Amino acid sequence: MEEKFDVIIVGAGLAGSAAAYKLAKEGLEVVLVERGPYPGSKNLSGGVLYGRVLEKLIPEYWKEAPVERYITNQIISFMSENASFNIDFRSQVFNEQPYNAFSVLRGKFDRWLGEQAEQAGAMLVPGIKVDRVIVENGRAVGIAAGDEEMGADVIILADGANSFLAQQLGLRGRFNPAHLAVGVKELIGLPRETIEERFRLSGNEGVAYGLVGFATRGVAGGGFLYTNQESISIGLVMHLDELIETGLRPAEVIEDFLAHPSIAPLIRGGKLLEYGAHLVPEGGLAMMPRLYMDGLLVVGDAAGLSVNNGFVVRGMDLAIGSGIAAAEAVLEAKKKNDFSVQTLGVYQRLMAESFVLKDMQTYAGAPDFMKNERLYKVYPEFLASLMTAIYQHEGVPKQHLLPMVMQSLKNSHLSLLALAQDGLKGVRSL
Ligand SMILES: Cc1cc2nc3c(=O)[nH]c(=O)nc-3n(C[C@H](O)[C@H](O)[C@H](O)COP(=O)(O)OP(=O)(O)OC[C@H]3O[C@@H](n4cnc5c(N)ncnc54)[C@H](O)[C@@H]3O)c2cc1C
Repeated sequence: MEEKFDVIIVGAGLAGSAAAYKLAKEGLEVVLVERGPYPGSKNLSGGVLYGRVLEKLIPEYWKEAPVERYITNQIISFMSENASFNIDFRSQVFNEQPYNAFSVLRGKFDRWLGEQAEQAGAMLVPGIKVDRVIVENGRAVGIAAGDEEMGADVIILADGANSFLAQQLGLRGRFNPAHLAVGVKELIGLPRETIEERFRLSGNEGVAYGLVGFATRGVAGGGFLYTNQESISIGLVMHLDELIETGLRPAEVIEDFLAHPSIAPLIRGGKLLEYGAHLVPEGGLAMMPRLYMDGLLVVGDAAGLSVNNGFVVRGMDLAIGSGIAAAEAVLEAKKKNDFSVQTLGVYQRLMAESFVLKDMQTYAGAPDFMKNERLYKVYPEFLASLMTAIYQHEGVPKQHLLPMVMQSLKNSHLSLLALAQDGLKGVRSL
């Protein structure tokens, strides 16, 4: 190989750029290879970044970074076909610095983090798709893209949810559709004042919705809506196996979702700016590949790191956390000049000690819990039926709450036993 570096990182998403930033800061020769024309160009716009972990890498990053709004209002919405029941949490605690979470547009945000890595000394090489990892005597020694080859002591795979490279290396098997979800997202432009009035926001405050039920037409998964400065990120995440089973097409499901009486007024008058689809790893620990081999580490979505517990979709903070842990493992290996699994294996320990694997453990039962079809079909109908009974006055005597609850359970074909079982499982999994 003509050129050799300390570290080659494949993929300049948040995991790759976080690792590149930390390693370059420590003076290592780092190459960050990205297949898109710039970091973020291949990413679906939008998401909520729980950014405290980035704060550790770049203190007060939000003062410079292109963040959109800090999230002060979290809403969980149970949607039936023609109603919605919302749990609306708004707290001044989230107005305090350092902020808890921001909405971000990935096209801008990933580009910025890539630039920070470059400024720290990493060499960003955009427009190159890595075809394979070069392995000699069981050890990763470089990458190949077309006719070109590059060598390094360590390769970090940060190539996202599809990570064909991890599969080529045998670190994981073929994907099981039950472990994957399809994310479809639209970016809808609206004037700043309209967003602030419509969502009751002041200044740079923002709102994040998680929507369950009719949003996905009963398919396991959920909807989301995040406010940006002058746009709204809105979309669905739907389990791939159920989409295949039901034959539902994501484009049709999202059309119905956007036309729902609770959603349509929120996006009225908006202009479609972007549309895209992307895979989301949702299998939790069950789909996690081997995280390291001689000369190589796997981070971010490529390592299956994501949490979807119905309250939040998280992957960006786990990506950054794993990028930092990988960089620390490489620094340890560099000190010892040993890039075998004996030293690089410290990555597994660092991950296990950090919030990344701890949260994956905590929510290990969430993927199974989230497969419960009652969450998407029965509970939203039950809540809509109960709330209608409470608020509808038809000139006949009202019942007490308990008989109304019992009648709504009956209308929704929900037994008390199922309710108790789901409650117990939910408490244990979430
Ligand atoms: C619809 C949707 C909504 C989401 N919402 C949220 C949210 O609100 N909050 C949250 O925290 N997470 C969210 N996520 C998850 C989050 O986007 C991911 O967890 C996160 O992007 C993972 O970062 P990463 O750096 O590991 O991978 P990615 O961001 O996917 O980056 C991988 C990079 O590698 C590049 N690449 C891939 N293959 C190659 C190759 N062979 N050669 C060179 N470059 C390559 C890609 O172009 C890309 O830039 C959402 C995901 C989706 C799909």
